[in-house]
Amino acid sequence: MKLDVNVLRYLSKDDFRVLTAVEMGMRNHEIVPSELVDRIASLKHGGTYKVLKNLLKHKLVHHDSSKYDGFRLTYLGYDFLAIKTMVNRGVFTAVGRQIGVGKESDIFEVAKEDGSILAIKLHRLGRTSFRAVKSKRDYLRHRRSFNWLYLSRLAALKEFSFMKALEEHGFPVPNAVECNRHCVVMSLIHGYPLVQVRELQSPEVVFERILGLIVRLAEHGLIHCDFNEFNIMIDDEEKITMIDFPQMVSVSHRNAQMYFDRDVDCILKFFSKRFNLSLEEQIDNTDNSEEDSEGSSRPCFSSISKSVGFLDRELAASGFTRKEQDDMDKFVKEEKDQDQCSEDEEDSAGMDETIVRDVVSLHLLDQPGHTVEGNEEEIKENRQSCEGQLSEPCCEAHFNEDESEENVNDTELVKSLNKQRRRAIAAVHRGGKTIASRNSYKDKGGRSSHNSKIQKQLGSW
Ligand code: ADP
Ligand code: MG
Repeated sequence: MKLDVNVLRYLSKDDFRVLTAVEMGMRNHEIVPSELVDRIASLKHGGTYKVLKNLLKHKLVHHDSSKYDGFRLTYLGYDFLAIKTMVNRGVFTAVGRQIGVGKESDIFEVAKEDGSILAIKLHRLGRTSFRAVKSKRDYLRHRRSFNWLYLSRLAALKEFSFMKALEEHGFPVPNAVECNRHCVVMSLIHGYPLVQVRELQSPEVVFERILGLIVRLAEHGLIHCDFNEFNIMIDDEEKITMIDFPQMVSVSHRNAQMYFDRDVDCILKFFSKRFNLSLEEQIDNTDNSEEDSEGSSRPCFSSISKSVGFLDRELAASGFTRKEQDDMDKFVKEEKDQDQCSEDEEDSAGMDETIVRDVVSLHLLDQPGHTVEGNEEEIKENRQSCEGQLSEPCCEAHFNEDESEENVNDTELVKSLNKQRRRAIAAVHRGGKTIASRNSYKDKGGRSSHNSKIQKQLGSW
């Protein structure tokens, strides 16, 4: 998915207010009724309709009139909210090129004010195969509170808290910097996913180091559950870093042994195939491993002394409730259970192609946000000037907003919108004027006629 952050420059405060209103409405609506958006946003001079049209144009919201007239956030809209918040907090100032694409995430470089580079991972739970979506749908049918925002946010929070905890316990993981919504900010790893590496100076040493990590994780009460060549980064000095933690489980999980053995098998198979290490006897040989005292045998789950409870403690410390953990685990596990270990060449080839693609530098230049309407020429011009800089590093671009003021505004905005949201929901239950009726008179003979496409999309409005 393309993340064109240039659009951010043209979004006004009202745009963000309405976008945030849609997000708030999504707490209990998959599609937020238009009138609820209007009531939550409570723009001083009205005009939610016009703002929604603008958001729709930039694909930040999606219009749905199948059951009733309403909107939902798109991933792009959610990305913008997270990015804006991070920028306001001063975590980073610019978004750069895409450096990775996972099954359910997109990874981008971002630049800090001092020019140093970090990485952000935008979680996208729900961007999955039809098969996986179907199985989730079966599970989710019973869950009214579900939506992909919720799950992506949980995945990010879980990943962030684990990254932090693992780092504190001396594991080689990226430095966890910040987390907001579905976005995790972390240090940039200077290396390659192991799957892209064809030769190693000392494959045996790397292999032992990686197996050692699986054992050490178990000693800390954890199983990675997706420990394979895609989630291990390696640099030129053959130093390894493990990534990708939303699916981790406790060693007290009822399927712990199976997950542990699967992680071990993935590594054994990969090193056996790619680096010709003679590990065949150990693959799938979980039964005899305890007796195998000669040479290097595969790690055995039952003989590791584990400190159970680590996972629960860390999650509790991060503010995760038990219910959230259950929701998350159930969702992720269902998918993992269906997945094969990624050692076969077909899979690897497919992933090779997708990693590090869409190398596009996106720049945010010094300009306060303003609305897009009536400014098409200016946007085109600016976009062209940005595109001219595609090959340059992302760190030249900056937001130039007053951060302290924005921070305050951000909190105030959320507070005031929350208040509006409560009022709006109550009002909607009582029944009231709809957004369509509030705004329809404004469109007569107005600008709306020149944007017939959007008019069409808005259907019943
Ligand atoms: P997913 O959960 O979707 O599999 P990952 O966390 O595994 O996502 O990341 C996908 C890819 O993005 C990785 O294979 C790697 O190439 C790249 N990547 C992820 N995190 C970083 C990072 N901190 N630094 C550099 N590259 C990263
Ligand atoms: Mg991964």
